[in-house]
Amino acid sequence: MNAEQIAYNLNGKRNGKGYICKCPAHSDSSPSLSISETDDGTVLIKCFAGCSTESIVSSLGLEMKDLFPPSDFNQYQRKEYKQTKTKAQLFKALYHELIVLLLIVDNRVTHKELSRNKNYRAARPEFKPIPEEFWEREILAAKRVKRIAGDLYGV
Ligand SMILES: [Zn+2]
Repeated sequence: MNAEQIAYNLNGKRNGKGYICKCPAHSDSSPSLSISETDDGTVLIKCFAGCSTESIVSSLGLEMKDLFPPSDFNQYQRKEYKQTKTKAQLFKALYHELIVLLLIVDNRVTHKELSRNKNYRAARPEFKPIPEEFWEREILAAKRVKRIAGDLYGV
């Protein structure tokens, strides 16, 4: 688990470099739990009402060892681990990129725009080339959708 995943499970909000959440170990009316992460991927948890880290971790259904990246990770693996996204975050990103793609394609149909590829356009002179910035964004969105789908479904 990284700080982002734990904060996500607690409906936490970003606060500087970390997150602020309601503490699951006591009846918390205003968020008093701070969650952050060190450079090596260790999750730091502090309840300002004084709950122990052990009690917070067990309230989350986790163990103390879940706050540390696996000890046999090298530096590169630690960095990857820190950047691990939850499924919900991946779906949100996928949804966003698909909407971007949809808007660009819809715009293309409305304005009779086509690929910037010259050979395509030679055969269809009634079409205008799609504006450069849309074209670049479309390629970026397609790449992101592919990557996120890969993370989600292993394709
Ligand atoms: Zn607490």
